[in-house]
Amino acid sequence: MEEQCKRRPACDGERALLRMELWFTRMSATQTKDATAWLADLVYVNGRFEKDLALVCDRNGRIVRLARDIGDAASVVRLRGRAILPGLVNAHSHAFQRALRARTEGRRRAHESFWTWREMMYELAARLAPEDVYDVSRMAFLEMALGGITAVGEFHYLHNASDGTPYAETGLLAKEVVRAARDVGLKICLLDVLYMRAGFNVEPNQSQKRFFTPDLSRYFLRVETLLGELDEGPDGRVRVGVAPHSVRAVPREALRETARLASKRDCPCHMHVAEQPAEVEACLQEHGRTPVRLLAEEELLSERFTAVHAISIDLEESELLGRARSFVCACPTTERNLGDGIVPADALCDAGVRISFGTDSHAQTDLLEDTRELELNLRLRRGERAVLAPPAETDEAALGGLAARLFAMATVNGAQCLGVNAGTLAPGSAADFFTVDLQDVALAGADAQSLLPHIIFAGGRSAVRDVVVGGHRIVEDGRHPVQDIIVERFTKLQRRLWSQP
Ligand SMILES: [Zn+2]
Repeated sequence: MEEQCKRRPACDGERALLRMELWFTRMSATQTKDATAWLADLVYVNGRFEKDLALVCDRNGRIVRLARDIGDAASVVRLRGRAILPGLVNAHSHAFQRALRARTEGRRRAHESFWTWREMMYELAARLAPEDVYDVSRMAFLEMALGGITAVGEFHYLHNASDGTPYAETGLLAKEVVRAARDVGLKICLLDVLYMRAGFNVEPNQSQKRFFTPDLSRYFLRVETLLGELDEGPDGRVRVGVAPHSVRAVPREALRETARLASKRDCPCHMHVAEQPAEVEACLQEHGRTPVRLLAEEELLSERFTAVHAISIDLEESELLGRARSFVCACPTTERNLGDGIVPADALCDAGVRISFGTDSHAQTDLLEDTRELELNLRLRRGERAVLAPPAETDEAALGGLAARLFAMATVNGAQCLGVNAGTLAPGSAADFFTVDLQDVALAGADAQSLLPHIIFAGGRSAVRDVVVGGHRIVEDGRHPVQDIIVERFTKLQRRLWSQP
């Protein structure tokens, strides 16, 4: 049979396959020659730490192999006393809100809430020039990088000049945010936000005029422009997606149209969903159904859809999200800061919903804290421990199972919901990873089995030593090369924004 195949003249399809194999062999040879081998004490592969494994990546920033030997790699980077893990993915950020950190923590009136915080956020948003947006974004992205984050989903809704008129250049502020991510070295999925109105039967809010795009065709034009100018596909450093802001800000007809655009362009679609009870009430008043039911009817729920927050939802809504293979992005450090509530991650996991994490308002920027908090909040609510742990048959699996599940949410799920090739260390994946110092005071004494639970339940930024994105080291020994400049520029901006006249 084999002989027959060899003698038979190759058809077009076989010839194409042979050409492709030849090309791949040639590419692999050249790439391996220029490859870099990263050698740490431990590497997190397939849900466990392996010893003495070299992570070899090519000049395009792709992992070509994980092996016991370095082969003919041109350069070797030794990372003694460190462990390599796939980079964390921050699936929901509003970078400009970093300028608001800690400024809202007092009580200025009888009752402070999400809604009073929002007024302060609007005041800040009104005052940022394009260059300020760049500076504050760069600061937010620097802090992310120093904490082991390699990719970010930026939910971007600052579109217009301070007086509400669109800038002459389409997507100017979105481009400033992308420039900031590029300059820090992070991968970014720019989620262009559609914000059409203040709410159902609500008078236009002058504080929101920088966010508005009342005309759907203008929004589509902006998204197409950004897709054309910035999007590099799943393997690139920049992706573009769509983001109807919320059921409050986008009328029903526009929801369906936006979902169609995401489907046509095969890009991610993210949306704030059921963050506050008042939003659910308004949705019931306008549409006679809760937000997730409305989104199901309008065909938004799909594998490319991410519901950010999804706090005030019921069991049936969890199941709707699960059946559609949609994601939920939990932002626990922001949700606790704003008094939003607790994401029902137990019900969501039972329904098969994939959960990712976001740092959202940057009240605190620490994705490991978000990761552990999702579980710890549920413990407080239910009065039990290890709530999100998968069933375990062995002691080793019982120890590592919960941490591995939470870590997959912060890496694999985050990458999938942003449509980027990251989140896992395997041949063909992007070489996006970070290292931790095994002698860090929070991790000291951990062995290979208990290291991940140490990192998830007690680790912090001080343990993160190196951060590599697409094979390029952007953080070395806990420092970014332009850290001082970024901090200095941001400090000047804060002085200007907050100093008393
Ligand atoms: Zn948000």
